[in-house]
Amino acid sequence: MFGPTGRMENGQRLVLLDQVMGWCGDSRTKVTIKPVIDPNVELSTPAYEIPDRIREQIMLRDRTCVFPWCTRPARRCDVDHIVEFDHDAEAEGRPQPGPTATHNLAALCRYHHRLKTFTPWRYRMVEPGVFEWTSLHGHRYRRDRTGTTRIDEPEPPDRH
Ligand SMILES: [Zn+2]
Repeated sequence: MFGPTGRMENGQRLVLLDQVMGWCGDSRTKVTIKPVIDPNVELSTPAYEIPDRIREQIMLRDRTCVFPWCTRPARRCDVDHIVEFDHDAEAEGRPQPGPTATHNLAALCRYHHRLKTFTPWRYRMVEPGVFEWTSLHGHRYRRDRTGTTRIDEPEPPDRH
């Protein structure tokens, strides 16, 4: 009769309305209700700082740090500008290469945020929530909601 009404962020499973009502009837329960944010809608701001609404969207989309195999929950992660924000762009009249916008933000735990900032590891978002990483040795990995897979099959040499 009742369809799924919510999602547990840790278990990543759907819960039924009667289960939610059961929790609400228990005085020990702390219930937080948040507006639904569509992870596929592009949100942006001209500022460098990430507004709560955009941060929440990234948390819901990524769920964990998006580094290959990392499982640290997104809520304990930083939000990274995938392409670095250029603080001088506006003053110098250039387009912002690394905007604070859904398509240019991802959850990275502090450790992997530093790794990305200070080592040759690179990544890009190929579609919402799907990331392709290139390691310092040139290996490539794809991280999506189902996990991480290596994708660095060598390209066949083109010798026609
Ligand atoms: Zn991580």
